[in-house]
Amino acid sequence: MGRNAQRRSSPTSAEIDPSFFDRLRARLGAEVDGLADALLAISPTSIRGNEAKWPGPEAARVPWCTNGAYLPERPAFTFDPLLHAGCYYVQEASSMLLEQAFRASGFAHERILALDLCAAPGGKSTHLRSLLHADSLLVSNEIDRKRQVILQENLWKWGAANVVITGSAPTQLQRLPEFFDLIVVDAPCSGEGMFRKDPFARAQWNERLVDQCAAMQRNALLHAWESLRPGGVIVYSTCTWEISENEAQMAWLMEQGGTCISIPIDASWGVVRSERLGVDALRCYPHHVKGEGFFIAAVRKPGEWTAQYSNAGAHSYYAPAKWLHPRSSWATVEVGEELFATDATWSGALNDIQRTLNVISPGVPLAERKAGEWRPHHALALASDLDPSHFTRVPLNMDEALSYLRGNALTASNAQGIALATHRNVGLGWLQGAGNRWNNRWPAGWRIRSQHPNAPHVSWSQAH
Ligand code: SAM
Repeated sequence: MGRNAQRRSSPTSAEIDPSFFDRLRARLGAEVDGLADALLAISPTSIRGNEAKWPGPEAARVPWCTNGAYLPERPAFTFDPLLHAGCYYVQEASSMLLEQAFRASGFAHERILALDLCAAPGGKSTHLRSLLHADSLLVSNEIDRKRQVILQENLWKWGAANVVITGSAPTQLQRLPEFFDLIVVDAPCSGEGMFRKDPFARAQWNERLVDQCAAMQRNALLHAWESLRPGGVIVYSTCTWEISENEAQMAWLMEQGGTCISIPIDASWGVVRSERLGVDALRCYPHHVKGEGFFIAAVRKPGEWTAQYSNAGAHSYYAPAKWLHPRSSWATVEVGEELFATDATWSGALNDIQRTLNVISPGVPLAERKAGEWRPHHALALASDLDPSHFTRVPLNMDEALSYLRGNALTASNAQGIALATHRNVGLGWLQGAGNRWNNRWPAGWRIRSQHPNAPHVSWSQAH
């Protein structure tokens, strides 16, 4: 996950329910011993760079992901301002296979309407947003209220335009039949592939959980399938190895008329192709790949795909949209005391989404109303489409940036108006001038609270 991702631990075999190994032995045979050894090792650390903001580190590449990189050790990410600025996302490498599945869908160069149905904390959504054509619209949905907060934080920091965040149950998709071109279902699952990273995954596993997850997954897929346009694609993934949660779910989509899309892989990656139950899917095992356990498949709905038509519909335009680069014809959407901006060509679809789903953030956060006036939204500072020429810039060095991220004011002389704090030329947050100091407008909920790193600094921040 992007923020608050510091925990390290590897399991002892005694912590894992023995029936888990029995079930896997039936499928993998003697290979299960190699897997059991890998589960006792420390997980590799990997990040995915946000090329709209930062060129990324010089580090070993994740071979199946353009902006994925392995780090030699796990640093103290919390103490790196570039993490808070949305320059990269800390993500385990296997799940970056989304890139290959997306490319195989054939939608990489199309203007499409995409949905990430189970999106928090935002790993797949930030990745998908970077992969989609810039004019495509991504709806990033999360059912769980607490997780919606971290999803919003991570997507706002990623800073890309044309992202709508919603908080709906899959059943609400019934009101949007044949609506989306691409739906990613990164389903809640029994979590076997996360055993070595996550003590909770080890502790909660049991055979009943597998059955419960399979039922939840079927429900999500049922509604996703109905909401998919003809010729549209579902990308389905889990971090478990259970057939009932993986191939059996894809076989059910094939019974509905779907066709598996073969996702290309290179033999050197160690990713395994699964052809169980007539499905064409990919599996990752930590004794074969440098990553965690993972399953991914892509299934196309029958019918001829046609391009989405653009429908500007009725929309408003408020003056704060001038703070954005004019690359799009921006439409503004007011929600309470906040103003958001989206490409006007998606206004028709956005109206439909607002009528049917619980919309949390309809686009780029633009402005907040204070004392009857619009002032820049705290997340606008992180938006890639911000035109910084409208604001004074205050470059912060490493120490100043960390102090800012802790919520402190900065000493200044003759500080006036609203200024953009930057670190290494990337927008971080707003400052409010108060003469001899800059008051801090970094959101309280995003502040760094720990005082001392418990690991080495990230290599790219040393010199600054
Ligand atoms: N895609 C995310 C990422 O890459 O960061 C991870 C998603 S996680 C595997 C699954 C998500 O599904 C969780 O955030 C969970 O709250 C959500 N979820 C839980 N129950 C659900 C349900 N019944 N239907 C849809 N989503 C559900």
